Amino acid sequence: MIERKSMAKSKKFETQSIRTQVPRTPLREHSVPLYLTSSFVFDDAEQARALFADEIPGNIYTRFSNPNNSEFIEKMCALEEADDGIATASGMSAVFTSFAALLKSGDHLLVSRSVFGSTHQILTMILPKWGITHTYVDIDKPKTWEKEIRPNTKMIFVETPSNPALDLIDLEWLGKLAKKHKLLLNVDNCFCTPYIQKPIAFGADLVVHSGTKFLDGQGRVIGGIIVGRKDLIKEIRFFARHSGPSLSPFNAWVLSKSLETLAVRMERHSENATRLAQHLEKHSDIELVKYPFLKSHPQYRLAKKQMTLGGGIVTFIVKGGLDRGRNFLNSLQLLSHTANLGDTRSIATHPASTTHSKLSDAERAAVGILPGLIRISVGLEHIDDIIADIDQALKKSKK
Ligand SMILES: *Cc1c(COP(=O)(O)O)cnc(C)c1O
Repeated sequence: MIERKSMAKSKKFETQSIRTQVPRTPLREHSVPLYLTSSFVFDDAEQARALFADEIPGNIYTRFSNPNNSEFIEKMCALEEADDGIATASGMSAVFTSFAALLKSGDHLLVSRSVFGSTHQILTMILPKWGITHTYVDIDKPKTWEKEIRPNTKMIFVETPSNPALDLIDLEWLGKLAKKHKLLLNVDNCFCTPYIQKPIAFGADLVVHSGTKFLDGQGRVIGGIIVGRKDLIKEIRFFARHSGPSLSPFNAWVLSKSLETLAVRMERHSENATRLAQHLEKHSDIELVKYPFLKSHPQYRLAKKQMTLGGGIVTFIVKGGLDRGRNFLNSLQLLSHTANLGDTRSIATHPASTTHSKLSDAERAAVGILPGLIRISVGLEHIDDIIADIDQALKKSKK
C-alpha cells in the first residue's frame, strides 16, 4: 500500500508524476514492478480481521486495491489536486460509476450538450431505466443553466473543451453556480489532462478521465479514473468495491508509467496543434478552424484563463461538405483514420459519420458538428510531416 501523501505537496507537476512511487520491495527495483496477483496473504487472523474492518491500510483483493492501481491513483490525485480517487477499467466505467454511485431514482442531472457519444447513450438509454433524468444545456448559453435547475437536480456534468466542437465552459463560474445550488460538479477532463486544466481548483467536486486518451498517450490501453472530494470517493469506493469496475494492474502499471512523460507530451502536442491550427487558418480550402489558443476562437480569453496550453485537438471544416470531408480522409497517407485520440500518432476523424453518428442531424447541428467537420488529434510526429500530409490530402480531395 502506498503511503497517502507520501510526496510533499510543494513538489512540481513533473516531479510528482515521476517520483510518486510505491515503496521498493526487498529486491530494490528502481522501476516499479507489476503486481499480477488477485489477492494478498494475511500475516495472521487478527491482521485479516483488521484489514476487512478497515482499521489498518493494506491490500486484500485486487478488485478492492492493488499497489499498481494505488500508484496510478496517488499520482492522479497529486496532479489533479484531489483528496482521493478510484481507478476504473475504462473512461466510460469512470463516468458510469460516478453517476451510479452518487445518484438515485428521481434525481436529475444538468449536462453540457456536447458530451462523449457513450456518455450520451448512458444518459438517454440507461439511466432513465432507473428513473434518473437529465437536461442538456447549451455550452455557449450559460444564462440558461440556472433556469434549468430543478428541485431534484443533484449533479452538473460537463466536458470542456467539448468534443469535437472545442467550445468552452467557464469552470470558475460553473463552480460558483454549483455551490450556490448545492449541486455536485463533475468534470470530464479527458481533453486537457491535469497538465492543462485543473477543474478542482475552479470548484469541481469530481473529475473523471479516460486513461485511454492523453494519459496513456500511446494508444495501448483502456482505463479510467475518478478523483475528487474524500466523502464522495468514499461512497464511490463502496459502490465500486462491490460492483467491480476495477482497472487491471497491468493497465494501471502502463498508465502510471505514461504519466511520467505527460508534461513533455502535452507540451509537444500543444505546440504541434498550434502550428497546425495557424497553418490551416491561412489555407484557402478551409472554412473554419477551431483551436482554444487561436486568437480567432470565440472564447480565446476564457481558454487563456482556465487552460495552460491549447491541447492536442484541432477541428476544422473543409469546404465542400460531406463528400469532400470523406475524400479528405481517404487521401491521408501518414495520419491514421481511427476512432481514438490522444495518441503519439496523429489521427483524423469524421465525427458526423463515426463518433457522433448516433445523434440525429438536428442534435449534431446543435453541438456544432457540421457534415464537413474534421477532428485532428495532433500527435508527436514532426509537425512538418503532419502539415505536409494534411496539405496533400486537401489538394487531392479537391478533384
Ligand atoms: C474516450 C472518451 C471517454 C470514454 O473513455 P473510454 O476509455 O473509451 O471508455 C469519455 N469521455 C471523453 C471525453 C472521451 O474522449
